[in-house]
Amino acid sequence: MRIDCHTHSIHSFDGSVPVKAICAAAKEKGLDVLAVTDHCDVTADPGEDLLICVQKAYDEISAFQKRVSFSLLAGVELGQVMNHPSFSERVLSCRPFDFVISSVHDAEGIEDFYYLDYDHLSDEELLSYLNDYIDRLFWTVRWGKGDTLAHITYPFRYLAENSRKGIDPKAFLSRWRDLFSLLVKREMALEVNTSGLRQTIGKTLPDEFLLTEYYALGGRLITVGSDAHTAEDLGKGIEETIAMLKKIGFTEVSYFVKRNRKSVTL
Ligand SMILES: [Zn+2]
Ligand SMILES: [Zn+2]
Repeated sequence: MRIDCHTHSIHSFDGSVPVKAICAAAKEKGLDVLAVTDHCDVTADPGEDLLICVQKAYDEISAFQKRVSFSLLAGVELGQVMNHPSFSERVLSCRPFDFVISSVHDAEGIEDFYYLDYDHLSDEELLSYLNDYIDRLFWTVRWGKGDTLAHITYPFRYLAENSRKGIDPKAFLSRWRDLFSLLVKREMALEVNTSGLRQTIGKTLPDEFLLTEYYALGGRLITVGSDAHTAEDLGKGIEETIAMLKKIGFTEVSYFVKRNRKSVTL
């Protein structure tokens, strides 16, 4: 079974592929399950426009669900819910989503890690942002209304690209362990995001080392996604990721239909 549970269409601010073209590419690549999960980045003052945008994306994806021969899931990548929890709940109830990805892309006082000026940051500042980022992951899991927690080592892919390779996710091992235990307790899945395999960091987010820790702490719920923003990247890295997961000991991956978990045996 070929599965990709994290992709972006033209309905994402950083996406360019119409839903129709994503569906055509998924069919061509032989995907059995595809989730389209456009961004909804929650700010402290989110406008109604954001909600309208999310609804438009859902409506278009769900219109295609009847036209395709594979399982097309209408999802959303809901980011930074702590900025406005009640708005985030409105997003979740505005349409009957199949699948909700929870993610974090920033830290207190900064925009997305993508925009940071890494050459002019002290190690102290950077460590404080990274700890705050991880605090936000904890907040997100405690909030608990998403199906999976996405790309937990997201900032580290930018460190790898910006002469800060020395700061490794392993430096935060005890925090990751606590986060994994919380995920297990809350029965929330952990995403393995394959985008890192296409980038300088050259590893999945999180990587084999951290996934082994998650498994050791009882973590069994995994979703996998390419985070493709182009038709070409759809499904990329999933096969090798499944092989890695099997090597660690995982026997299944999950996907969600109308927020109900389904599993695929590896
Ligand atoms: Zn993301
Ligand atoms: Zn994404």
